[in-house]
Amino acid sequence: SPTLHSADVVVLGGGPGGYVASIRAAQLGLSVTCVEFDKTLGGTCVNVGCIPSKALLQSSEHYEWLRLHAAEHGIKVDGASIDLPTMMARKTDVVAQNTKGVEFLFKKNKITWAKGYGTLQPGNVVEVKAADGTISHWQGKSVIIATGSVPVQLPFLKFDEKRVLSNVGALSIPEVPKHLVVVGGGVIGLELGSVWRRLGAKVSVVEFLPTILTGNDDDLVKEADKIFRKQGLEIHTGTKVTGADVYDDGVRVHVEKDGVASHLDADYVLVSVGRKSAIGGIDPAALGLAMGARGEILVDDQQKTNLPGVYAIGDVCGGKLLAHKAEEEGVIAAEVIAGKPVHMHHRTIPGIVYTWPELATVGLTEQEVKASGRVYRVGKFPFSANGKARTMGETQGFVKFVVDKDTDEILGCHMIGPNVADLLSEVVLAMEYRGSAEDIGITVHSHPTLSETVKEAALSALGRAIHM
Ligand code: FAD
Repeated sequence: SPTLHSADVVVLGGGPGGYVASIRAAQLGLSVTCVEFDKTLGGTCVNVGCIPSKALLQSSEHYEWLRLHAAEHGIKVDGASIDLPTMMARKTDVVAQNTKGVEFLFKKNKITWAKGYGTLQPGNVVEVKAADGTISHWQGKSVIIATGSVPVQLPFLKFDEKRVLSNVGALSIPEVPKHLVVVGGGVIGLELGSVWRRLGAKVSVVEFLPTILTGNDDDLVKEADKIFRKQGLEIHTGTKVTGADVYDDGVRVHVEKDGVASHLDADYVLVSVGRKSAIGGIDPAALGLAMGARGEILVDDQQKTNLPGVYAIGDVCGGKLLAHKAEEEGVIAAEVIAGKPVHMHHRTIPGIVYTWPELATVGLTEQEVKASGRVYRVGKFPFSANGKARTMGETQGFVKFVVDKDTDEILGCHMIGPNVADLLSEVVLAMEYRGSAEDIGITVHSHPTLSETVKEAALSALGRAIHM
C-alpha cells in the first residue's frame, strides 16, 4: 500500500492563501507540505487573475495614453499600433517571474510541494494523485484547506474558452475582438472589459442589477459609471441575459430590459457573474464539514472549521474574494496552529478596481453608515484641485471619507482617481489604529503629491480643507 507521509501542516492548494500559510508555518518552525495540482504555484491570482490582468491593464493603458494624451504633453506619436503576441508574451513572462518566485520561496523555506490532485480524507489525511497516476498520502497534525474558487457558469453560456470565456480565456484572446460582450459588471468584467476596449474592441457590459460595481459607495459608482461610459464602454444596467446562441465564430446574446427583448451579436463573450468555492477534492457531507448557504466552508475568526485540526482560508471561505484577504487568513491559520493567540478581522480589508482611473475603498459605504443610524459626516476632495494631479493631467475623481460625527473616527474611505490603489494604504493603516480624520488631516503630506488629496478630504470632513 502507498506510504503514509506526515507533516505538521498539510496545505491543500498553492494560491495566495495556501502558499502564504505554508511560508508562515515554515517560518514558525513547522514542517509543511503543500498540495497543488497546477503546473505552477500561485493559484488563480498569479496564474489567471490579479497578475496577468494587471500586466495587460498596464500595457493597454500605455497604448491608450499614447493615443489620447501624448499630444497634450507635446509628444507626437505617429502610427502607434498593437503587437498583441508581444503584449501577451510579456504578460506570460510576468506571470512566470511570480510563479518561479513562489517556487523559490518554497525551496528557501523547505516546504514540500506535493504535486497532484488532493482529496481530503478523514483523519486529516490528504490523498495526492499525481499527473502520472501515482498516489501518495499525507497526514497532517493540522490541515489547511485553501482550494480557492472557480468561475460561475451560466447554463446557456458554458465556458468553451474559444467564444464563451471565463477569466482564463479573456486573458488570452488571440485577436482584438470586434465586439466583446461582458456579462456581469463587477470588478473582473470591468477590468478585462477595459483592457480590450483600450486595445480597440467595442465592449458592451450587461449587468442584471441597477448599477455596475454593486455594493460600493453610491458616489463612487456614479462617478465610475459616468467615466467608463465616456471612455466608450457600453454599459447596459438592469438588463438580464436570457439566453445565447453560440456559433463557431461568435455568440448571439439574448437580453431583456424592462420587459423588452433584444440581442447583442459578439465575436467573444466574457462571463464574469461571480465565483464559487472550489471544493473538488472535498466531500463536505462525507467528512461532516460545515458549509454555509453559498457553498462556502464555515470558519471562525481563527480560520477553524468544525473539524478538529482542519482550517480553511481564502476564497473557499467566501466573503471578499481577494488575494490579500486570502493571504492574511493564511497567516492567521499558520499562527493559530503554532499556538499564537491571533484572530482575523475583516473590518479593514481594502478593495481595488484597477481600471483607469482606479477605484479604492475600505470600510463602510455612506449608505451602510446611514442605514446603521450612526450620525456621521462626509469629507470629499476632488483631484481637479490637486497640483500634482494637474501636472499629470489626471484630474478625474475624488477622495471621500465617511467619519463618525462625534468622535471623528474614520468609518470608511472611497476613492476614484489616479493611483488611488496605492493612496488607500495610509487610510487602511489609520483605520487599523482606529484613527480619525484629524489624524490624517494634521499629518504632513509631501507637496506636490496625489496624497495631499487624501489629507484635504480628511480636513474637509472637519470642515477645514485648505484648497477648496
Ligand atoms: P486560489 O488562488 O484560487 O488558489 C487555489 C489553488 O488551489 C489553485 O492553485 C488550485 O489549483 C488549487 N487546488 C484546488 N483544489 C485542489 C485540489 N483538490 N488539489 C490540489 N490543488 C487544488 N484579487 C486581488 O486581491 N486583487 C486583484 O487584482 C485580483 N484580480 C483578479 C483578477 C481576476 C481575473 C480574477 C479571476 C481574480 C482576481 N482576484 C484579485 C482574486 C484572487 O485571484 C483570489 O481572491 C485569490 O486567488 C484567492 O486565493 P486562494 O488561495 O484562496 O485561492
